[in-house]
Amino acid sequence: MSQVRVRFAPSPTGFLHIGGVRTALFNWLFARQQKGVFILRIEDTDQSRSTDESIEAIIEGMKWVGLDWDEGPFRQTERMELYRSHAMKLLERGQAYWCVCKAEELEARRKEAEAKGLSPKYDGRCRDRNLTNPTGDAALRFKAPQEGETIVDDLIKGRILFDNQVQDDLIILRSNGYPTYNFSVVIDDALMNITHVVRGDDHLTNTPRQIPIFQALGFPVPHFGHLPMILGSDKARLSKRHGATSIMAYKDMGYLPDAMVNYLVRLGWSHGDQELFSRQELIEKFSWKNVQTSAAVFNPDKLLWLNAEYIKTSPPSEVAQALVPLLNGAGLQEEVQAVSPDWLAQSVVLVKERAKTLVEMVDWVRPYLGQAVTYDEEAAKKFLTPAIEPVLGKLLARFADFPAFSKQQWEGAFKQVVEEEGMKMGQVAQPVRVALTGRTASPGLFEVMEVLGRDRTLLRLRRGIERASRS
Ligand code: GLU
Repeated sequence: MSQVRVRFAPSPTGFLHIGGVRTALFNWLFARQQKGVFILRIEDTDQSRSTDESIEAIIEGMKWVGLDWDEGPFRQTERMELYRSHAMKLLERGQAYWCVCKAEELEARRKEAEAKGLSPKYDGRCRDRNLTNPTGDAALRFKAPQEGETIVDDLIKGRILFDNQVQDDLIILRSNGYPTYNFSVVIDDALMNITHVVRGDDHLTNTPRQIPIFQALGFPVPHFGHLPMILGSDKARLSKRHGATSIMAYKDMGYLPDAMVNYLVRLGWSHGDQELFSRQELIEKFSWKNVQTSAAVFNPDKLLWLNAEYIKTSPPSEVAQALVPLLNGAGLQEEVQAVSPDWLAQSVVLVKERAKTLVEMVDWVRPYLGQAVTYDEEAAKKFLTPAIEPVLGKLLARFADFPAFSKQQWEGAFKQVVEEEGMKMGQVAQPVRVALTGRTASPGLFEVMEVLGRDRTLLRLRRGIERASRS
């Protein structure tokens, strides 16, 4: 069999939608598994809706989720000559014809047909008139076969038959010379030697329109696969109403790209009841036969759960790297610049069990950055009291005796002070926690001290003591 060649062919008319990413992902996985080629093609012939910003958003989104392409990005607007020359080929072969019907007339005739209960398709008025296009304002229509059936052996849905009688003579070149979607997509899929066309099943009805064009031009017909749609919890097609649908919005909300990929692949594909997959595993295990035929329902809670799993289990240095832009976005650039990547990874280890998103993690890491800490006022009032001041003072003196932080030694000193004061652990631990982190909740006290280091721990204790003496 020839080398697998697949493509992702978004129209750049907005942000990159998570449904689009899922389509891209299935194609990418198949390409990587089959040692094939994955192509990115931007379908920008609709000039009124395509924008350069959207092309950039697509590229940025694809890069963020790590779906790298082997060829492209191609832009259809740079390939216009190819569409025109192939359209002319069809014309020469008698498989296309010029149509001079005006839009208003077509609309009126369509309404009339509908009123009579007839098919609303083009009535074929110009089909056999052998018109030329001297004024340049005619549209070119494809002479679609009107008999028999077009068979689609869908990779996912199985065999589907389409009756050719209902197929329209589609416009392939508009009167302005621009190709229509159904035509440019065929020319590109053919010239790019695409072996498998896999896209959302909103395109299923386009497939019997496209196959005859491949055939008319003598191109091999690729395999087709149509992915079930993604729905919201109310079973309506996924839209903004159900939450963010732009892939980059998830980056901003603190999701890891690997978690997104893992979530999206499970939206319509399964391997037993396994939920967590590494990318390598996905590449090995992916198969069209395990793609479900019915629509998938988007579940933000499950995505959040997966993200938390990825935060817990990914290499801390990777999580730390993904965290940096969010820390910067939270106004902590200077603090971030002052620490090493290793230190940041260490703080990720400290808080990773507590954060479901990187946005939450920013909040957990914040107290460990910078010299000073900002107190939660209520916590400071409750725990940094004059009564605790001497205890904190004693603790500070003991800690300061050690030339470096050592969990074992510092914990021993802490316990001793608690004992000497006849107090309970918690009675001392909470004020220390507030002094060190500004809050009443934190990971283990000595892990916190380890991340802060000796000097900052002492500094913050000293400040806590000052605060206690003032209240
Ligand atoms: N440009 C089309 C879209 O964004 C893609 C169609 C296809 O994959 O054939 O829906």
